[in-house]
Amino acid sequence: MNTIDQFDFKDKKALVRVDFNVPLDSEFKITDDKRMVAALPTIQKILQDGGSVILMSHLGRPKDGPTDKYSLKHILGDLSRMLDLEVKFADDCIGEDAVSKAKNLYPGQVLLLENLRFYKEEEKGDEAFAEKLSKLGDIYVNDAFGTAHRAHASTAVIAQYFSGAKYFGYLMAEELKNAEKILNHADRPFTAIMGGAKVSDKILLIEKLLEKVDNLIIGGGMAYTFAKAQGGTIGTSLLEADKQELSLELLKKAEERGVKIYLPFDTVVADKFDNEANSEIAPTKAIPDEWMGLDIGPETRKLFADVISNSKTVLWNGPMGVFEMANFEHGTRAVADAVVAATKAGAFTMIGGGDSAAAIAKFGLEDQVSFVSTGGGALLEYMEGKELPGVKAIG
Ligand code: AMP
Repeated sequence: MNTIDQFDFKDKKALVRVDFNVPLDSEFKITDDKRMVAALPTIQKILQDGGSVILMSHLGRPKDGPTDKYSLKHILGDLSRMLDLEVKFADDCIGEDAVSKAKNLYPGQVLLLENLRFYKEEEKGDEAFAEKLSKLGDIYVNDAFGTAHRAHASTAVIAQYFSGAKYFGYLMAEELKNAEKILNHADRPFTAIMGGAKVSDKILLIEKLLEKVDNLIIGGGMAYTFAKAQGGTIGTSLLEADKQELSLELLKKAEERGVKIYLPFDTVVADKFDNEANSEIAPTKAIPDEWMGLDIGPETRKLFADVISNSKTVLWNGPMGVFEMANFEHGTRAVADAVVAATKAGAFTMIGGGDSAAAIAKFGLEDQVSFVSTGGGALLEYMEGKELPGVKAIG
């Protein structure tokens, strides 16, 4: 793997694609800086070598060009504080100002470019735009795992203009190493925990994991499609009616492969989708009419926790219930606690990005698992066996 460790950046200008797509509140304060913190080691290594850094990122999904709400200037102060230096800013990612600021950068200095997605050419993977960006630096570094599954100008197309002078940053390398370890070198028993709203988003991953795991735990909204397919009644719980047959096929495949599947058998049901709803415990396959399952029940939690804490490798993707509501977070919390216990007992535990990362952060347990991925979609695609354009471009 071509990582930045193989290169001395002394007197070089490194053009680094980072994923600073952080959530901001209504006053433009960062509410979760994890993605920025995760990119710091790469930036620091280049600066310590005696190089300078030009950072490029996207923020949000601007539709019509420059929009104040999506300006990266909002994160400039925090970035300067994190790096303990005054980061410079170019309010256009290409053009004269960016060129001259990049040119005048001294070793040890950092320049942040304005949001790449103010140009629609970025997401289109436009070559001319990528070439303009490429002129800003001598070396290209990709440390944006969160967007590695996109063939955008700055994540993939740009690499062709840096023959030989392109590297993975530390975060990218760490993400790939851990995903590879989970897929190909997992200690057994290996347990995957799948949750979240929809089974349709995770079918390919579940199929792939059936080739790898010993145990597959299924919870969250997706579990009700399985319960219904098995002949249960699920009230008004989430259902993907057209995925019932497929869920039965997945169960059959699991059986053929000797993978143990664990589905919820008791469920916290509510009379409306609201934290203040009336709630009861019901069998997952006998949910009363007009009630909906919003969390796994107490007996299921015990079973899942038991399987997880006895595992040597754990991959968790998707919450067990509507963890955003305090009254329906208990199943997700029980799973999080069990993942922590497994980690303490020596297991390698990985939290897939997206909502499971949000859940583990909500419970303040991020530091007590082996690895929390910064990539939601990118991690899913990598694990499904797809080649990520951002990875392929560096080779
Ligand atoms: P995903 O993005 O597919 O991982 O789904 C995450 C979302 O699924 C979270 O916002 C959860 O609130 C939601 N979710 C999990 N369990 C349920 C459920 N039983 N009913 C409705 N939504 C759920």
